[in-house]
Amino acid sequence: QLSTLQEFIPFSELTLGAVLGEGEFGSVLRAAHCAPGRAPAPVAVKTLHVQHTDTNKREFLSEAKLMMSLRHPCIVRIIGVSLGPPLAMVQELVPLGSLLEHLLRSPERPSPGYELRLWAWQVASGMYYLERNRFVHRDLAARNILLASRCQAKISDFGLSRALSTDSSYYKASHGGKWPIKWYAPESYNYGTFSHKSDVWSYGVTLWEMFSYGQQPYGEMRGIEAIQIVESGQRLERPEDCPDEIYQVMLDCWAYSPDLRPTFSKLVDVFSQNPDYVNIGQIV
Ligand code: ATP
Repeated sequence: QLSTLQEFIPFSELTLGAVLGEGEFGSVLRAAHCAPGRAPAPVAVKTLHVQHTDTNKREFLSEAKLMMSLRHPCIVRIIGVSLGPPLAMVQELVPLGSLLEHLLRSPERPSPGYELRLWAWQVASGMYYLERNRFVHRDLAARNILLASRCQAKISDFGLSRALSTDSSYYKASHGGKWPIKWYAPESYNYGTFSHKSDVWSYGVTLWEMFSYGQQPYGEMRGIEAIQIVESGQRLERPEDCPDEIYQVMLDCWAYSPDLRPTFSKLVDVFSQNPDYVNIGQIV
């Protein structure tokens, strides 16, 4: 019920600013949240296309409520929902935007031994937290990781595919080159099954994107061709700058059988072992 939603934000409290980006579900705008008696707070507002919310507004709101209960430094905080119109999700503003854009365009290449490993650790930590809270992401990819700073990556869009769509083909119409099939585990593209283990597969592809500085997995191949590659036992190749031990982690994440893939808890362990992180503190 709408009345029980604590974090309902009247649209009139939001002063919308520049567009930060466009996604499958809607547009993302910078905004100021001006709650009565409080200083304006910078936020990101994700407006949601009508076609995603018309039929299942109720499920969306109950899912949004769950998403709002999650708090972790490595996931984007959902502050509230505005019933609009348009229906919108008010999120923590993550200043540097998407990791994918950063990988592709940053004038300073992130170092494989430091930033890339650190982000890999943070994403694993955030995913481990989501797993502990029984959230399957379903759409983990570099485009859905945001950077608060060069030293802080955050997972975004968790739960959205479940909250907004019962139809796993929701992406197909508009995503063109960014076909998410390339991030899907075999059991997801074969049977539509999503689990923490299929998230681990996508985590492996996200690692690959990171260590290849934002390359498109399987290049220009279509989704069906990428599936054929995976089914034939081949995997994405080791990116040039990727150390062997990290490529081995990717290969482990791409074990055909879900049970043979590592857990997020194990992945946190793998990436936390870096003496350079002494000043970063405990994030798990
Ligand atoms: P999709 O949602 O279809 O997977 P996407 O992740 O590119 O695609 P959005 O999540 O809607 O789309 O985000 C679009 C862009 O808006 C992002 O790439 C990012 O640059 C920006 N953005 C999204 N959320 C935030 C946020 N909380 N803070 C700052 N920028 C954001």
